[in-house]
Parts: sequence; C-alpha cells; structure tokens
Amino acid sequence: MRFFDYRDGALYAEDVPLAVIAEAVGTPVYVYSRATLEHHYKVFKAALGDLKVHICYAVKANTNRAVIATLAALGAGADTVSEGEIRRALHAGVPADGIVFAGVGKTDAELAYAISVGVRQINIESASELARISRLASAQGKVQKVCIRVNPDVGAGGHAKITTGKADNKFGVSFDLAEALYAEANELTGVEPVGLSVHIGSQIIDFTPMEQAYRKLVACVGRLRARGLTVTRLDLGGGLAATYDETVSGPDLVAYGAMVRNVVGDLDIELEFEPGRMIAANAGVLLTRAIVTKDNGGKAFLVVDAAMNDLIRPALYEAYHQMLPVRQAVDHDNLAPLDVVGPVCETGDTFAEQRPMPAIGEGDLIAFMSTGAYGFAMASTYNSRPLAAEVMVSGDQWQVVRPRQTYEEMFGMETLPDWLGPQAEKA
Ligand SMILES: *Cc1c(COP(=O)(O)O)cnc(C)c1O
Repeated sequence: MRFFDYRDGALYAEDVPLAVIAEAVGTPVYVYSRATLEHHYKVFKAALGDLKVHICYAVKANTNRAVIATLAALGAGADTVSEGEIRRALHAGVPADGIVFAGVGKTDAELAYAISVGVRQINIESASELARISRLASAQGKVQKVCIRVNPDVGAGGHAKITTGKADNKFGVSFDLAEALYAEANELTGVEPVGLSVHIGSQIIDFTPMEQAYRKLVACVGRLRARGLTVTRLDLGGGLAATYDETVSGPDLVAYGAMVRNVVGDLDIELEFEPGRMIAANAGVLLTRAIVTKDNGGKAFLVVDAAMNDLIRPALYEAYHQMLPVRQAVDHDNLAPLDVVGPVCETGDTFAEQRPMPAIGEGDLIAFMSTGAYGFAMASTYNSRPLAAEVMVSGDQWQVVRPRQTYEEMFGMETLPDWLGPQAEKA
C-alpha cells in the first residue's frame, strides 16, 4: 500500500504533485508520505490483534527524525543499533523506555550512554557484552533490563547480504550459550534478564523460517522457566518484506499475526517487534531528473541526477525499484529497454538494466518507487555529491524535513595540515 498515484497524468504524493516539490526543492530529493507510514504501522498493529505487543520501529531503515516522530506519535518505540540512533530516537520524541538497543558490536561508550538514559532493553549478543553491561550499569548504580539475542540457525531473507540468522552469521549466540548467559545474568549485579530476542533477516515473504525460529525460541523459554528463571519478553525482530514489484504480492500480515498467535499465544509474555523496511519502504520515493539520453554499443542509456551515493540498494543488493515518469507518458504502454544510470564514475552506478520504459526525455522527472527504507539512510557524499534533500507530505501539505546539504557543509569541516603552509588555504 502506498499513497503515490497518478491524477490526470501527473504523479502525486498524497495530494501534492511531485513536480511541485521537484520544482521548489530541486532534485534528487526523497519524498515521504506520512499517510503511508501511518498506514503500515496501523495495519501491522491490527494484524497482531489483542496480543500484548510493543512495536519498535527499526530506525536504521529511515532515520529522519520526522519519520521517527510520525511513528512515535502513534505509540511506536524504536529499535536502535548505535548511540546516534538512540539520540535521534530521543530527539524525535520516543521515550527512553520505548527504545531497544541492539547490535553485534556495541562499544563501552555506547552501552554506558544507553544505560544512562534508561533504555527499555539492551539485546546482548555475546558473553563479554553481558559482563560489560553488568560492570557499566553497576558503576552507574543502575539495573539494566537485557534480552539475549539467539542465533536460531535459520536463514531467511531476500539476499545473502541481508540474512542474519544462520549459525555462521555474526549475529546472536547459540541456544546453549543463551541459556547459560541468561542464568548468569540472573546472578549478576547491574542487569536483569527479561527475555530472548531474534532477528533472522530482511525482505522475508515466506514465514516458514520465522515460524521455525519462533518455535525454537518458545522451547528455550520453556527450558529457562523450568529452571525457575523469569522470562517476560520475547523480541521477535523485524524482517518482514515490503512490496517492491507491484506485480508480486507482499507478505500477508494477517497470516503473520495468526502465525505469531499460534506459536507464542499461550506463553503469557510481552512481544516486541522491530519492523523497519515494511513500515518505511513504500512510504518514500526518490525523485530524480533525466540529465542525458545516449546510445552506446546498441544500448539506450538514461543518465539521471540521482546516483549510487543517494540510493545504493541496486548497486549493493541488485535491488529492484519501480521507476515511474512523473508526467505519465502519453504512449505509456509503448515500452523500450533502457539502462537507467547515475553520473558516478562506477559501472555499479546502475539503477536498472534493460528496463522496459516509456519514452523519457532529457529534463523529465522520474520517481524511483519504494525507496523510503535503506535509501537516504545509506546515502553518502561519494563523488562529492551533496546529500539529497528530504521532504514529507501530509495530505495537501508538504515540508522540507532535511534541506539539501550545502558544499560548505560537505567539506567545510575539513582542515589542511599546517605543513602545507598558509598559502594552501585559499578560500
Ligand atoms: C535491521 C534490523 C531490523 C529491521 O529489519 P527490516 O528488515 O528493516 O524490518 C530489526 N531488528 C534488528 C536487530 C535489525 O538489525
């Protein structure tokens, strides 16, 4: 579901023509739809029905504070993987006791910060991390609630680079170690073990591996409780797919909710979820303008003003993004294959190869659809290209939620070493 549609041949974000935003803000620009963000959150929550749940939006998918705040206003917590993300979530209005801190390599400084602000929970991924949290929290006179992240040895997801639940991935610990760590945490000062967590991958449509992982988790809860340990939370992770290709149906959230209820419904436990992509992907588009059309070696190329530094998913994961002309082509069923590429000096800077596209001319606007997750969040200034602007739309209103980076902001922080002499510093 997304609120980007054609009206009279012009592509809109909710009630705002995308061309109006491109004209005012320039391109490339990310445009987010508030209604789409809210819709996905509400549909997911509804699918979980009357279960006791805490939904933590995985802020790494789209870290803009306007996005986090939109979801926080609906009651969402935040799943974070760095001190920066915790700070962003707090700035965006997520209460500390709504924030889960996860990640395979948290530094002492990050852990101390998370403990000091009183995050809801830290998900532990190693024996040494448990010892460090115990020491750091004790030093602050605090008791930090923790979950142990298990590696269920179940793989899932749309691509090898986004599978996180196999035994040979770096994430989590084995069930044996998780049980041992849980019992140990129960004895340590400064920590209170409250549950287990799991996150097996991303872009998941088939729930079979998730169900396998959840069943293993439930069995582990049984073993822990049989030892007299208290287990009150299960963090079931994120990873649900978003629809990138309109011709392929996405995950059935109602079926997901039913599966969860079936597997853990009788456990008398609070459930946590960490959806990122499923919430944000379809809520954003990357608006770009065609710079040049050219033919090379018998192939037609369209060079646009967005590049891999703005959207790296196609280069990194061979990801597919639908591309829609902002002014609908008159002859929109007459398609010809086109390579859509960015201006960066890498052949990998390719958004689509031999994509059937309607006629697009130089200067025309194109929307790369479903780029609200892992789009701007993974952007860089490679090739000294400024970070794109970000805009949010709500009904017929729209606002810049992050202006385009200026050149001064991009390299003004850099300083020349003294040995180059004063003449090197030319303004
Ligand atoms: C990345 C991540 C998520 C979110 O994954 P999506 O596929 O975007 O839903 C959730 N939990 C953890 C621990 C993650 O690392």
